[in-house]
Amino acid sequence: MKSIVVKQPNDLIIEEREVPQPAKGEVRVKVKLAGICGSDSHIYRGHNPFAKYPRVIGHEFFGIIDDVGENVDIARIGERVSVDPVISCGHCYPCSVGRPNVCESLTVLGVHRDGGFSQYAVVPSQNAYTIPDEISDESAVMIEPFTIAANVTAHLKPTENDVALIYGAGPMGLTSVQALKGVYNVKEVIVVDRIDERLNMAKISGADRVINNTSLSLKDELDRLSIKPTVIIDAACHPSILQEAITIASPAARILIMGFSSEACPITQQSITSKELSIFSSRLNAKKFPVVIDWLKEKLIDPQKLITHRFDYIKVIQAIETFEKDQKQCCKVLLTFS
Ligand SMILES: [Zn+2]
Ligand SMILES: [Zn+2]
Repeated sequence: MKSIVVKQPNDLIIEEREVPQPAKGEVRVKVKLAGICGSDSHIYRGHNPFAKYPRVIGHEFFGIIDDVGENVDIARIGERVSVDPVISCGHCYPCSVGRPNVCESLTVLGVHRDGGFSQYAVVPSQNAYTIPDEISDESAVMIEPFTIAANVTAHLKPTENDVALIYGAGPMGLTSVQALKGVYNVKEVIVVDRIDERLNMAKISGADRVINNTSLSLKDELDRLSIKPTVIIDAACHPSILQEAITIASPAARILIMGFSSEACPITQQSITSKELSIFSSRLNAKKFPVVIDWLKEKLIDPQKLITHRFDYIKVIQAIETFEKDQKQCCKVLLTFS
């Protein structure tokens, strides 16, 4: 089989490997589609502190089970499945409170262990979620990016009375827009970004208002419009954003961050406590695949609106470079395997 392997930073090859055998409790997935995500590019470029090399990257993938290991029902062979990349121990404190995404011995497929950019991948059976026939292959491969939004909204508990502001109209921002409007029916969703083409994608995904903050002060613009966001999501992940978010937030607002920067960001106790703000963080997803599968069955979200490019896996370097460079036209890039 062919696997896409990052040998070391900036050295990616398509390698011939032996088809892996599923171990006890595992299934083997013949991969059909995979999605390129920021973290794949970060591992390729050597910017992911958790990655070990060489690594088969890819944590968003869909395919067909073609073999099972010991203790797995043989009837699963032939199932269409999407794979949750989060592998957890099941018994540490975070696991015991339903937070396997921050398990003390967390393993993420495509980061800590070989992932889905390969013709075949072996994964724990319980990580392979059965996809109902009514959900298309392309929607199924988009489940993982939408679980990010499902995890975010599980923390924020949005309501119809909320005015939400999202920083960043990339895939994480756009899946959040679709969840807030399609699932939670939030009163108003505002998206802030510096690229008009991306803001246009946010409108297509359901944003009520978009703001390009390249050359204006977001705070002044919101003051002018008399808008005080009650929910703020930082999907742009710049360390300067939290401070601004605290400033523009309504009293009693909830703010959620997803960034991984190690740079300090200056905030004061007073700015948070005076408004009694709640600040959440969200990482990966805590068993949210069934939630997103339900959203898809009920047609509350539309992943097609995010898919802009498709490449054969042979062209993976071109695909990653398109994802990295073409920020105006590019949102989700899919790789097809055969
Ligand atoms: Zn991802
Ligand atoms: Zn655990």
